[in-house]
Amino acid sequence: MLKYSEMQLNRCSNQRKNPQWLESQRNSNSCWVLLHSDQNYFSREDNAALFVTFEAVEHLNLDNAVFLGIDENNNNRPYFVLDLTHAEQGALAVFLSQGEFIDLRKLAVVLDNQCASILALARALCFWHRMHGFCPRCGSANQLVEAGHSRVCRSPECAHQTFPRTDPAVIMIVRKTFADGVERCLLGRQAAWPDGVYSTLAGFVDPGETLETAVAREVQEESGIHVNNVQYITSQPWPFPSSIMLGFIADACSEKILVDKEELDDARWFSRDELNSFAEWGDESAGFKLSRVDSISRYLIEYWRNMRD
Ligand SMILES: [Zn+2]
Repeated sequence: MLKYSEMQLNRCSNQRKNPQWLESQRNSNSCWVLLHSDQNYFSREDNAALFVTFEAVEHLNLDNAVFLGIDENNNNRPYFVLDLTHAEQGALAVFLSQGEFIDLRKLAVVLDNQCASILALARALCFWHRMHGFCPRCGSANQLVEAGHSRVCRSPECAHQTFPRTDPAVIMIVRKTFADGVERCLLGRQAAWPDGVYSTLAGFVDPGETLETAVAREVQEESGIHVNNVQYITSQPWPFPSSIMLGFIADACSEKILVDKEELDDARWFSRDELNSFAEWGDESAGFKLSRVDSISRYLIEYWRNMRD
């Protein structure tokens, strides 16, 4: 399973709209995720994810707490997230004495996937709330409703309701059998990446565009390669800050690469044999490296690599 894709809490989408039910979930059995400036809460000693009890947070302002779901495999434990970004320093200091706030991506590789998925959901919802303090229609302040899964404009004349956003992005492995009979895949690299790392191409879906069209457009814009036969493979939530990655495989119908230097540092064709000589992401040696083992890019590369020529 791809990282962040095993969120196994029951979201209780209907029940959570009931304020009495929601209040009853804020009990001593509940488990609280903490966020600060888009960073999750971890142990200083061993980088384990830290959750806190209701007793540790009940004295704080919980108006902006967000309900995440119920763990039906563990005593129906309710999970909430509390964003401490604007908490008083005194309240924050107590938590900082016991742990620290770290970007989830730095530790996700070593985290249990179910845990990482809860932390990713918590991060995504807190980001959305912080970025949507005001009504997009009239500019009035808006308030959290429905257990944190919606916001409503405070202006009675407007009362516009908004919901958490997920921005679709396509990511694709492009393949082509060359005149020498060898099938190769198209990978590129961005200048900001570690030296030698090559990955699948990707980009955001534009308004008014199908996913298949977005795949073809992004590949053509970034590499000059034309594709057809675009097929969906899998998806990965990517709340950094608010995307879902939609993974595809496509066939190239041209070979000559023309890199858009605004987007990519380089793009090349690689055979399976060449991929076998790639080092892992994070390897300090010179030479080519694969994308991170927990990324959908890597999943797509391995998907293609394991296909028969
Ligand atoms: Zn409004």
